[in-house]
Amino acid sequence: MRYKRILLKLSGEALMGEQQYGIDPKRLEEYAEDIKSVVDKGVEVAIVIGGGNIFRGLSGASQGMDRVQGDHMGMLATVINGLALQSALELKGVETRLQSAIKINEVAEPFIRRRAIRHLEKGRVVIFGGGTGNPYFTTDSAAVLRAIEIKADVILKGTRVDGIYTSDPEKDKSATKFDSISFNDVITKGLKVMDTTAFTLSQENELPIVVFDMNTRGNLMKIVSGEKIGTVVNV
Ligand code: UDP
Repeated sequence: MRYKRILLKLSGEALMGEQQYGIDPKRLEEYAEDIKSVVDKGVEVAIVIGGGNIFRGLSGASQGMDRVQGDHMGMLATVINGLALQSALELKGVETRLQSAIKINEVAEPFIRRRAIRHLEKGRVVIFGGGTGNPYFTTDSAAVLRAIEIKADVILKGTRVDGIYTSDPEKDKSATKFDSISFNDVITKGLKVMDTTAFTLSQENELPIVVFDMNTRGNLMKIVSGEKIGTVVNV
């Protein structure tokens, strides 16, 4: 296997599948199967999940809601998604722990770095909910932060697009995909991989990011076993 310990970032929106809102049970099951396949190969898997399928603080703020209040709702949304993913994984027989950045002890363990690492060493999938626990951040920042804390080898950012393109491939048919690109080139070319806070944190800590299409079955396994899928961002 190419990687021993991975941090998989899944957006909340990805969980919607074909729906406009919420969680598509079929999509959830597919993700659980793909994740199980790499766990079965002995790869240590931590997951940060977003909440955009349920609530985003910014959209609350645009409708007049207090931003911090909205962000708290967004963080809770990520815990809901974490619970759903946990349940889908356990139905497949994968042992999991959900750790939350906001205290919600009846529902999830608190985030404790050493305990998270211990779970990973025992082969459990650790799902990090609640983002960073702070308003004004995103789950991309949470993904980078947790990846650094648990010393993951790489962040695998699962998206709808199969990598980083010269321009938005959904709008520009002439866009071409990068197989690999440096952090600096992403910045100078003005490309969008993650929000700036998350991206800079990754760059400063020389933590590679692989952007790939998580909706194609088997892609996760291909990346983990070393196939060149998606785009790698590296120093
Ligand atoms: N959020 C937050 N702090 C964090 C992570 C998330 O306040 O550290 C809130 C924020 O309101 C955000 C929402 O949770 O809009 C959902 O997270 P995100 O937008 O990152 O989810 P994704 O786009 O991955 O679905």
